Amino acid sequence: MTDESQSEQQAHKTDLFTVTNEKALALRRRWILGFLLSVVSLLWLGAHLDEISDASLWPFRAPSQLVVLWASCLAVLAMLAVVRANVIESVFGGLSEAVRWHRRLGLASLVLLTVHVLLLVGDALLAGVPVSFVLLPFTMPGQRSLDILVFYVLIVLGILAYDRRMRHEKWLAVHRLLGLIYTAGIVHASIEPGSIQNFEPLRTFFVILILVGLSAWAYNVVALRGMGPRYNYWVSAVRPRGNDVVDLVLKPQDQRMMFVPGAFVLLRVPGFKGMNKELHPFSIASSPVELDLQLSVVQRGDFTKFLSYLSLGQDNPDYWKHRRPGKRHPVSTLKPKKVYLYGPFGGFNMMRFMGYRRVVWIATGIGVTPFMSMLKFEQHNRGDIRQIWFYYLVRNEDQAIYRQEIEDLCKGANSVVNLTVWESSQHGRLSATQIAEDVGFDDYAVMMCGTRAAVEDLSRQFMDLGLPQSRIISEELQFRASPPEE
Ligand SMILES: Cc1cc2nc3c(=O)[nH]c(=O)nc-3n(C[C@H](O)[C@H](O)[C@H](O)COP(=O)(O)OP(=O)(O)OC[C@H]3O[C@@H](n4cnc5c(N)ncnc54)[C@H](O)[C@@H]3O)c2cc1C
Repeated sequence: MTDESQSEQQAHKTDLFTVTNEKALALRRRWILGFLLSVVSLLWLGAHLDEISDASLWPFRAPSQLVVLWASCLAVLAMLAVVRANVIESVFGGLSEAVRWHRRLGLASLVLLTVHVLLLVGDALLAGVPVSFVLLPFTMPGQRSLDILVFYVLIVLGILAYDRRMRHEKWLAVHRLLGLIYTAGIVHASIEPGSIQNFEPLRTFFVILILVGLSAWAYNVVALRGMGPRYNYWVSAVRPRGNDVVDLVLKPQDQRMMFVPGAFVLLRVPGFKGMNKELHPFSIASSPVELDLQLSVVQRGDFTKFLSYLSLGQDNPDYWKHRRPGKRHPVSTLKPKKVYLYGPFGGFNMMRFMGYRRVVWIATGIGVTPFMSMLKFEQHNRGDIRQIWFYYLVRNEDQAIYRQEIEDLCKGANSVVNLTVWESSQHGRLSATQIAEDVGFDDYAVMMCGTRAAVEDLSRQFMDLGLPQSRIISEELQFRASPPEE
């Protein structure tokens, strides 16, 4: 057998391995969903076995009950998907995938809740009961008024969650409230007379569901800051890079964070007044073999702009205020600031594509950071040699601030890296077709990092070319759509 056919066979074997691996992840998520919905449906059936042919259950009451049970399961799963813990991430296949799942499950849950109410309206009409009993609180005696109120609050919060103009912290608060009220609504519905109350196995299922939902909520909102995987670092430098980008260079205070290149951390700065509780995600731009950890940050809003105040140099807006006469020349009395890093998180790494020898990297703007970490690691990489087509997408030359560094890193990389710095102002949009032509083989995998719009657009193009979804992994640098252009 020739070397070529041997390596082709090897590629095919590993190809199958990786595809299976990625497909297994998607399958696992569907299984979890299918399992939950089947179990809750069977339990409902168990609760109504004696009266299943009872006319009062059909055509509206039974479906309305089932639908609200499914809605509860989806809501809890949506909360679980975005828990920042490694064990949960591995189930959902990394942050971007988990956030996508969270969005779909959350929306589906609210839609099912609305369907539940519509079915109840149908049931009321059939029974000749005033519809106001179902739609308006306090029109009927009993505890249902609270359920009706909770429904309206959830719908309003659900709509607010899509408001692209809302500040991120407010948007997060809306999400947290939504999760809490939803769980409280499930608790309330479970203790009222009905299927859950009357059937022990369904009651037990709901107790577990509520505990999972509350734990997920409490971990994300309360416990992560105190009990999450936290590392204390000192800021050793804040280097300005171009107009609105800084490199934050951090030194471990006691324990050093180990991570796989491509991971991201949540950054918290305890000294930032009014923002000291905020957790902002940033991909790590340095290699795990270096002691210092680097984050490269676009200064967009208040938190990122404040990072300049962590500098010990003249680019710190406070620098001149803190200048004191020294022995020979004035010195600054600025002290290194402490920051907390939570993590590492994320599933955006080359290990997910072990089987692929040909890999395409696409970075838009600051989405270059995880690839810089991978490239730096490539300088020490042994035995895992690939051919990489690296596209660094920028609007114009001025925005290609990491170009020189990346060119140098490509030269020292153990894998073969073909770098293209793509300036969209000159060449227009880069298309998947063009990339496929550059690669020239169809056994490649794609890794993309950048804005949600760019990642979604290119993913769609690759899939239109016939690339299976399991061969594309992406990291979106946004949890929500960008605000509309002014
Ligand atoms: C996994 C991941 C990795 C990221 N890596 C990088 C990176 O390496 N370099 C980089 O410059 N940026 C990165 N970002 C984006 C970065 O987190 C936001 O730009 C930053 O949090 C903006 O904060 P701000 O208050 O200065 O800006 P704002 O003006 O308040 O927000 C700008 C935009 O950033 C988003 N944002 C704001 N606060 C948060 C938050 N707490 N969590 C998540 N998103 C938020 C919002 O969608 C908002 O539209 C990453 C985002 C994610 C999700």
